[in-house]
Amino acid sequence: MAGIASQDSTSLWLTEAPARVGRRPVASPLRLSPTAVTCFRQCPRQYKFRYIDRLGDEYGGPRPYFTMGNHVHDTLREFLTTVPLDERNMETMVRLLRKNWRRYRVGFRGQEDERRWAEKALRQLSSFVTSHDIRIRPYLVEAWFETEITPGLVLHGRIDRVDLQADRTLHIIDYKTGNTPEASDWTQLYLNALALSRKMPYPVSKASFIYLSSGLMDTASIESNVLDRARWDLLLTARSICCDKNFRSQPGIICRRCDFKPICPDRVKLQKVEATEVQQGDRGVCHGMQRVLVL
Ligand code: SF4
Repeated sequence: MAGIASQDSTSLWLTEAPARVGRRPVASPLRLSPTAVTCFRQCPRQYKFRYIDRLGDEYGGPRPYFTMGNHVHDTLREFLTTVPLDERNMETMVRLLRKNWRRYRVGFRGQEDERRWAEKALRQLSSFVTSHDIRIRPYLVEAWFETEITPGLVLHGRIDRVDLQADRTLHIIDYKTGNTPEASDWTQLYLNALALSRKMPYPVSKASFIYLSSGLMDTASIESNVLDRARWDLLLTARSICCDKNFRSQPGIICRRCDFKPICPDRVKLQKVEATEVQQGDRGVCHGMQRVLVL
């Protein structure tokens, strides 16, 4: 097993020295996270803007969904790692969320907008309390990983939560704070499973998304053929990235939250689509809220 250096009680860095067997070390390996892999598969141009040109800081800026997502993740981490079992309830969750929310409040259009996002966070945590096991003691929380898949290719990223099950196998869990999709995209969790299976003393047997907006959990079994396939697909994607000369834009659902619309080659087409959506009133619906989070 690779060295595990404890950073604190809830967060681990999992690293290993690069493999050199039969080869000289590669000067600058391609480093891919599951998010970057998904990004390239969805839109190579967005991948280029973000990971090659590194324009994220210039065009990114704070976004309300990132702020909300960070606070929800932080609150769940604290709740499951620092709160005694007999204090795990909705009141504690609200207290933690309120504390985390006050740390930073960026990206909102104003007080009303912030309140709407805070209520959304509260709804998601409420659905977690009512729909999931809040007495669990996770094996790992927010575990960072980095592993060499092949000389010249490093897979790295972070896993929200890993549970050690009674049969001594691992269950990887990822929290989603966006909308619940019709079908899960397993790319991210299969790659997480691939990385973790190389690092941990226990095999990975399951991976799940917890969609906090609906409280639903979607679970997949992790067999060896799943890991083989994930590794093969990763190698193909890495090769595509290395061979890509154009990084074509590929408009789709991700354009809605793409920071690079102002410089996208398809921006005119996108503006027309957005104008049509506005005319059709295709905007998110704000549902009524039973509880109010006092900020
Ligand atoms: S706006 Fe859409 S097509 Fe353009 S770079 Fe972003 S994701 Fe790609």
